Amino acid sequence: MTHPRPQVLLVTFASQGHINPSLQFAKTLINNGVHVTFMTASSTMHQMAKTPAPQGLSYAYFSDGNESVFQLTGDINRYLSETKSHGTQSLREFLADQGTLFTSIVYCTLLPWVATVAREFNIPSTLLWFQPASLLNIFYHYFKGYEEMITKNIDDPTFSVKMPGLPPLSRRDLPSFFIPPTPHVVPLQTFKEHVQVLDQQTKPRVLVNTFDLLEPQAIKAAENCYNLIGVGPLMPSAFEASKERREMEWLSTKPERSVIYVSFGSLSTLAKAQMEELAKGLLEAGRPFLWVIRESGGEEKEGLSSQRELEKQGMIVPWCSQVEVLSHPSVGCFLTHCGWNSTFESLVSGVPMVTFPQWVDQGTNSKLVRDVWNTGVRLTENGVGIVEGYEIKRCLEMVMGSEEIRKNAMKWKDLAKEAVQKGGSSYKNIQAFVEELTNDPS
Ligand code: UDP
Repeated sequence: MTHPRPQVLLVTFASQGHINPSLQFAKTLINNGVHVTFMTASSTMHQMAKTPAPQGLSYAYFSDGNESVFQLTGDINRYLSETKSHGTQSLREFLADQGTLFTSIVYCTLLPWVATVAREFNIPSTLLWFQPASLLNIFYHYFKGYEEMITKNIDDPTFSVKMPGLPPLSRRDLPSFFIPPTPHVVPLQTFKEHVQVLDQQTKPRVLVNTFDLLEPQAIKAAENCYNLIGVGPLMPSAFEASKERREMEWLSTKPERSVIYVSFGSLSTLAKAQMEELAKGLLEAGRPFLWVIRESGGEEKEGLSSQRELEKQGMIVPWCSQVEVLSHPSVGCFLTHCGWNSTFESLVSGVPMVTFPQWVDQGTNSKLVRDVWNTGVRLTENGVGIVEGYEIKRCLEMVMGSEEIRKNAMKWKDLAKEAVQKGGSSYKNIQAFVEELTNDPS
């Protein structure tokens, strides 16, 4: 049976780091003749209303039980549990009403329950994974035999684990959910459910926001269990310019590769003492910087003792168009929390990184940046869990002065571009996915 215009329901988690790449994937599908219904949590409805749906795409919402605006800074366990229970119910109601429309459902990281509901309605589903392929391998092996060994040894400072397709991983390189004491039981359970849901198919296809040459070992190592398909980089084009030009104009006044860009993504926040050390490190590094301090996250520039000096040397903004900033020629380094989008955006823009991972997958991403892709270094905490100013200055100088790191960064930039160009690996992988949607054998 052929579907002249396949209809996909794309269901995504409500954080910025998931909505951005899934919207990008939706646009790619639309450009290939697919009609997409883009579904996310109802608590983002106000924000989504500000982004008019591109042609060929319509918005829908599942309930996450949260009547106010989406905020993940609170209790992630509760949020994920409520998203699952309310979401399951409202997705069932939605599909009972409109399910026959859809050729296929694409569901994203943190929403394995969507695949369960899709099965109830006999609609084929595919996971779109928003962390590197390496992470899916780690979760797979963790739940398929490594859990006990990791849990038993994690407090041994010399411990490291070797999993197929991955470099040896020490405690700080593993997803934070494996590291006790962890209050994050529900996220761990959610990743377990992902693996269980995938187990219901033989060698399921998983679309991954990576590209084949970025993680060849991880993709190969998964071959026996999963068919991992690189469809990235999924990110807005740097030419989709933001309306806010202030920082872009400021960047244009700075010499090439001179500016340090600092951001911790859309969710993480730093403690006050850590903010002070970061300010110290930036001032001592003596270079211009663009620092995103999200006022909604509980951080504020007003509280910083050196606010006036900071604003003489750099610029502090509450938000910026990151992809555009990273692609500006005056940006020479990204001090990042290593969320996967930020890491990937930096790789794609050829910008070296100083990494300061906080939680979730960020420690693993940082390990890959330093030891596999060789495009950055990781900050080291002192004995009481703070990264001091001198360490920040040391790492910034090391990265900005390293010709080798810069060359590697440029290499990954070129390879990422090739992957999405006509004939590139991600381009071909997406074409093949669309072809399958069009020629659905059912
Ligand atoms: N971002 C942005 N402007 C900012 C800070 C972040 O556009 O000032 C975007 C960034 O480009 C990325 C996303 O927010 O696409 C953050 O995702 P990531 O996976 O890096 O981190 P998370 O927010 O999920 O921790």
